[in-house]
Amino acid sequence: MEFINEEYIQSLIEDNALLDEKLQIEVIEKAKEAKGLSLKDAAVLLNTTNPEILENLFSTAKEIKERIYGNRLVLFAPLYITNLCVNNCLYCAFRRDNRELKRRTLTIDEIGEETEFLIKQGHKRILLVAGEHPKKSTLDYVGKAIEKIYSYDINGNNIRRINVNTAPLTLEDFKTLKSFQIGTYQCFQETYHYQTYLKMHPDGPKRDFAWRLFAMDRALQADIDDVGIGALFGLTDYRFETLGLLSHAFNLDSRYGIGPHTISVPRLEPALNAPAAQKPPHAVNDKHFKKLVAVIRLAVPYTGIILSTRERAELRRDLFSVGVSQISAGSRTSPGAYKESKDAMAEHQMEQFQLGDHRPLDEVVYDCCDLGYLPSFCTACYRSHRTGDRFMELAKSGNIGKICAPNALATFQEYINDFADEETKTKVQKFLAKEIEKLDEKTKNAVKKMIEKINAGEHDVYF
Ligand code: SAM
Ligand code: SF4
Repeated sequence: MEFINEEYIQSLIEDNALLDEKLQIEVIEKAKEAKGLSLKDAAVLLNTTNPEILENLFSTAKEIKERIYGNRLVLFAPLYITNLCVNNCLYCAFRRDNRELKRRTLTIDEIGEETEFLIKQGHKRILLVAGEHPKKSTLDYVGKAIEKIYSYDINGNNIRRINVNTAPLTLEDFKTLKSFQIGTYQCFQETYHYQTYLKMHPDGPKRDFAWRLFAMDRALQADIDDVGIGALFGLTDYRFETLGLLSHAFNLDSRYGIGPHTISVPRLEPALNAPAAQKPPHAVNDKHFKKLVAVIRLAVPYTGIILSTRERAELRRDLFSVGVSQISAGSRTSPGAYKESKDAMAEHQMEQFQLGDHRPLDEVVYDCCDLGYLPSFCTACYRSHRTGDRFMELAKSGNIGKICAPNALATFQEYINDFADEETKTKVQKFLAKEIEKLDEKTKNAVKKMIEKINAGEHDVYF
């Protein structure tokens, strides 16, 4: 576990020499090359407090994100299949000792009903989420759930990519998970600070820090190319967590030639009977949160950054500009809540944590357009085998945008035709037309052909 070098990380946080503003500006200049930053460089930026330098950091993060990913924002929704859990994480409402939580494991048919709801909202990407339970949340159950979700087709609309956020598996089980045709496997370390980790996980299988830390190694060895890491911000100093996350990312990159496909930045939210969530030991304020997102963008320019509906709408809008590339929308965090979303009380008794952004998908979509971001429902890369190092190669050579932009535009046209109401259709259609005009002639023509097909009723047009 030496790649999470606590002593070194702590020394970087405490090093007064890194408070030098000239050095902070130099690091931002270096970051403009979009080649990433060292751990020390990242620490320099995390220590910045000067408002002018911070503005420079934010605008550089925006510039880099747009250079690599353009103005696209990929949309997805979580699907919780069970809130049963044998762990006792002090921050989560699903913890075993929370006797007030109404426990529920969806049947495969109920998972189908949730899928139907999400498809009818316009979603194409799902993040499947489950508590850890050896009898109820088995790999076999997850496999059947995935099979059910992929089996739905409603007038050409379907879920085309399922990412999975479950407890770490053995190498053999990861191979089985891969055979279910998943997209990204996600697992958050929660905290990279060992003693804090032990405190937050008093018992249960999750108490094993190393088993979790090496989950991504096992997943990659099992040929799951796209893995997603994350830290739960609020458990310890945000600078420590950010440097821990980056150490993890650098280590995967150096050993497997690919870093994580995504980094998630969940921030602690209130949760029923979860003591650490009621009063986060190291609550991260909005200013620090924005800074750490921007630093991650500069440090690992080619990694997707995921922002969930844990955050309020205003803050989400602000964070889109510093490098976020994927967002959830219209989310619920309790099993069965999509279909039964009218019963708010019942939902609260089953949910994992409280959300900050309650807006339905269509509102988020129109808001993105208003702010100049192109909503994308693209799921092409996985299905065209552009995963792992193949994806990274394209991203690093600056060519991923040439593929993503047409796919984003085509999937957005599909969304407009199938799900936008008459009132907003005209507005977003105009936005889409302007986005097409930005493309070079060759790409523009290719996109126009894709859109012609979609307007003629074809679905799932991509390359
Ligand atoms: N049970 C599995 C695990 O812990 O890895 C997977 C699913 S767990 C429901 C998904 C993530 O939710 C956790 O990794 C944690 O980071 C996040 N989470 C838990 N409690 C939270 C809270 N109160 N606020 C925000 N995020 C929370
Ligand atoms: Fe269980 Fe995951 Fe919640 Fe911990 S975070 S209690 S492991 S669902």
